[in-house]
Amino acid sequence: MSTSTRPAVSLEARFATELPELAIPWQAETSPEPRILVLNEALATELGLDPGWLRTPEGVDLLTGRSVPADATPVAQAYAGHQFGAYSPRLGDGRALLLGELLDPVGRRRDLHLKGSGRTPFARGGDGLATVGPMLREHVVSEAMHALGIPTTRSLGVVATGRWVQRRTTLPGALLARVAGSHLRVGTFQFARATGDVGLLRRLADHAIDRHHPEAAGSEDRYAALLRSVVADQASLVARWMLVGFVHGVMNTDNTTISGETIDYGPCAFLDRYDPATVYSSIDTEGRYAYGNQPAVARWNMARLAEAMLPLLHEEEDRAVEIAVEAVEAFVPAYGASWSTGMRAKLGLPAQVTAADADSLTEELLVLLQEHRVDHTSFFRSLGAVARGDTDATRRAGADPAAFEAWFRRWLPLQPDAASMDRVNPVHIPRNHLVEEALDAAVEGDLTPVDRLLEAVTDPYVERPSLERYAGPAPADLGPYVTFCGT
Ligand code: AMP
Ligand code: MG
Repeated sequence: MSTSTRPAVSLEARFATELPELAIPWQAETSPEPRILVLNEALATELGLDPGWLRTPEGVDLLTGRSVPADATPVAQAYAGHQFGAYSPRLGDGRALLLGELLDPVGRRRDLHLKGSGRTPFARGGDGLATVGPMLREHVVSEAMHALGIPTTRSLGVVATGRWVQRRTTLPGALLARVAGSHLRVGTFQFARATGDVGLLRRLADHAIDRHHPEAAGSEDRYAALLRSVVADQASLVARWMLVGFVHGVMNTDNTTISGETIDYGPCAFLDRYDPATVYSSIDTEGRYAYGNQPAVARWNMARLAEAMLPLLHEEEDRAVEIAVEAVEAFVPAYGASWSTGMRAKLGLPAQVTAADADSLTEELLVLLQEHRVDHTSFFRSLGAVARGDTDATRRAGADPAAFEAWFRRWLPLQPDAASMDRVNPVHIPRNHLVEEALDAAVEGDLTPVDRLLEAVTDPYVERPSLERYAGPAPADLGPYVTFCGT
């Protein structure tokens, strides 16, 4: 790896220096023929990086990890994790590297990370690589999530490596440059705890407080305060997923962040028809990570975090357990509050509607949506038009208005606010059939459909006649949708 002084980019190595036990200095494999497939110019600018420079050979060297600023120490991060409920003591970045932390022009510190950058000591049997389709999927879906206002890791861009990668077939390789508040995971705490070194666990918690919850630093029970904050952030995050019909697909504790950002877009997908039992991931045969299970799984993941943090919560074990239980139990009301607030907004309910009325309207509606196999996104979007008096609008969303007549008779007299509904019920989500279509074309070398899809999903609340085919429900003859991990 060559290093060069590049005043335009400076990377801190705080994780690497503060937590060396969790960081293996490592370098990216060289990409034989790197070529940028998509560059997030708006994000680059926000980070204080010049998009024009990123497109130069020097910029591409940074995006592929071939050359990093002189001050950087790229590392593979160690973590453990519960995968589908079973504990793996040693996972870690098998095909990823933390290049370092960037300070943006407003002083926000963010990780710059590569995924698909080659084998590391955590690679186990894996090849350390990633392919064009899944990396573009992460780019599209994470940028869509961001546009929907949902905390998420971001994608700075995807670079084709020019290397062929063996999966079920031979596929073109790619890597993703990812930006995140941090890459600290519940699994990072599990790993630190399992070392038995409480000093390390404390340093990790202090690092997390400093990066994500500095307000906890002043509190007497700072580690309990950190735990409570993470629980609150995860509760709000998962409520937001549920409100837009997002299915993460692999909510393992190593894919659950301390920052409250959505991370790791592997087998993720958005609901077409509303059904809580929806599962897309090919390996989730028991439906552990089904749409409707996500809040319960997130709470379970918070219990694993609390367990890992026990030695920090109190010196007496019984008291530590009490603190942990109390913190984790707060998930349920926090989730409920975020969900109810979000649902009120989706239904445009004015403030005077009581919580009990709002909840019963919501429950009744969800029963109808499931019973009539209605497209989640299109239906909620059509409600804005219904509120304006066009009760037939649901028909265009593929739902028979007759089935909703009684519900409309309860809801419409409450005078829902159509304009505010249109600001929270998206027209555009990354529809599964459109994502597949765009990724298939990209693998064949045509990036136009990816660009078009990005145009739709990065401005999700605005209907545009030119993007009409990006707005409707999936074609009725589309078979079951299946997604895959670790590709
Ligand atoms: P994921 O399912 O993507 O969250 O990954 C779970 C674990 O498998 C992490 O430790 C990854 O680093 C590792 N992993 C996934 N794919 C690969 C690969 N192709 N090569 C090496 N490690 C991998
Ligand atoms: Mg992961």
